[in-house]
Amino acid sequence: MVFNLETQRGNCVNTEYDSIVERARRFSQDIVRSRVADFEENGVSKEVIQQMAEQGFLRSIFPIEYGGLAVDALTYGRITEEIGKGCNSVRALLTVHTSLVGETVAKLGSDEQKQTFLPVMASGEKIACFALSEPEAGSDAASIQTSYQEFDDHYVINGTKKWITYGGVADLFLVFASKDEKTSAFIVERNMPGVTTSPMSGLMASRGAHLAEISFENVSVPKLNMLGRAGMGFSFVANTALFYGRYSIAWGGLAIICAALEEMVTYSRSRVQFGTKISQNQLIKAMIADSTTSLHAGRAMCEKIAEMRIKGDQRAVTETNIAKYLTSKAAAEVSSNAVQIFGGNGIWNSYAVERLFREAKVLEIIEGTSQIQQLMIAGQALRDYYRVALKKHYPNSKSASDKAGLSEAKNKLVASV
Ligand SMILES: Cc1cc2nc3c(=O)[nH]c(=O)nc-3n(C[C@H](O)[C@H](O)[C@H](O)COP(=O)(O)OP(=O)(O)OC[C@H]3O[C@@H](n4cnc5c(N)ncnc54)[C@H](O)[C@@H]3O)c2cc1C
Repeated sequence: MVFNLETQRGNCVNTEYDSIVERARRFSQDIVRSRVADFEENGVSKEVIQQMAEQGFLRSIFPIEYGGLAVDALTYGRITEEIGKGCNSVRALLTVHTSLVGETVAKLGSDEQKQTFLPVMASGEKIACFALSEPEAGSDAASIQTSYQEFDDHYVINGTKKWITYGGVADLFLVFASKDEKTSAFIVERNMPGVTTSPMSGLMASRGAHLAEISFENVSVPKLNMLGRAGMGFSFVANTALFYGRYSIAWGGLAIICAALEEMVTYSRSRVQFGTKISQNQLIKAMIADSTTSLHAGRAMCEKIAEMRIKGDQRAVTETNIAKYLTSKAAAEVSSNAVQIFGGNGIWNSYAVERLFREAKVLEIIEGTSQIQQLMIAGQALRDYYRVALKKHYPNSKSASDKAGLSEAKNKLVASV
């Protein structure tokens, strides 16, 4: 994928960055944390979604001319982390609304599209979500069945999307549909005739994130609403969106690692067994050491990709895949350590680690499963770390197939979520 990454240094002065991150921290601690149980039961409330908009979090990284605050990528990552520490389902709103849809429209939209959609998304008047996956198309996103037809002044979309985060409450859907095996992206509005959403229940995690199935039955969409050029839905729009989305998930993973570490350290210093605090046991310390190492490695990686985005470094795309893979895997391991350190209390929903453990697992599945990240990372590594000078030391090696398989694998993964 060729991704033209522009410099993303924001326009605010540093004190404003700090204040919005500090606001996110307070909002997460004071408002979000206390309501997590309710969100898990009833979904993140409209009131909290509106507060996220009023506080500027939803529009933080949007350009100023479209109602945004134009914070830089590092500040946006830190906002994501702070919100994610409070509740992963609330953090998911930033991922779908601000990153997957908002940043993509800001990057690829026409002037008219930006004027039409970004200010109402910035104010929270309209909430947006990302609708690529289908019942029969997940990792292999190129196999989507949702189709579109083209007419003189509009398109007609038919199909069903599944697992759509905030699909139950969103007003705008970034929908991917195919025609003649070529995929295009459209912004579809909830109030367009033929759009219906059904909430998904029985979920292990993301219970607050209003997951929904969405069906499109002969939905007529104006020509204005095609995002990017016809047929460029995967190579351009989905990959751009997933770059922003994975950036957000990387910081979301960091949030869970940090929250789980704070929980395990605090609990282990108060729980007494065999007449001593459990934190004094070397086996407990080993889990704390591993978890701390994961936090520091994850933070270094997240700050690295933020800096790469700020500098407009093209390698940010691959590094973001690595960061997403690293922090989601580490979040699953660290939250598992936290449950272990809490013992029986760890699986009781009176303690936060039970939820952190469930939420961490989701990060290894969404926006490209860990296996898909591994395939992409390995594909890049097989190019970057190949050394002709070393090869001569290997007996019986043949050169004919050096490149075989690499481009084929790359092409297949272009469309993977
Ligand atoms: C909580 C949640 C929120 C979501 N939100 C959204 C959303 O907002 N919008 C959206 O469009 N989608 C969303 N999704 C869907 C998500 O993107 C898919 O679940 C994900 O891409 C995996 O697809 P799948 O579930 O169909 O699994 P499959 O693709 O069927 O994969 C099943 C298993 O096979 C493995 N696998 C598949 N292909 C390969 C391969 N080539 N090599 C090795 N292993 C492979 C996978 O890694 C996985 O372990 C969400 C999912 C969840 C669970």
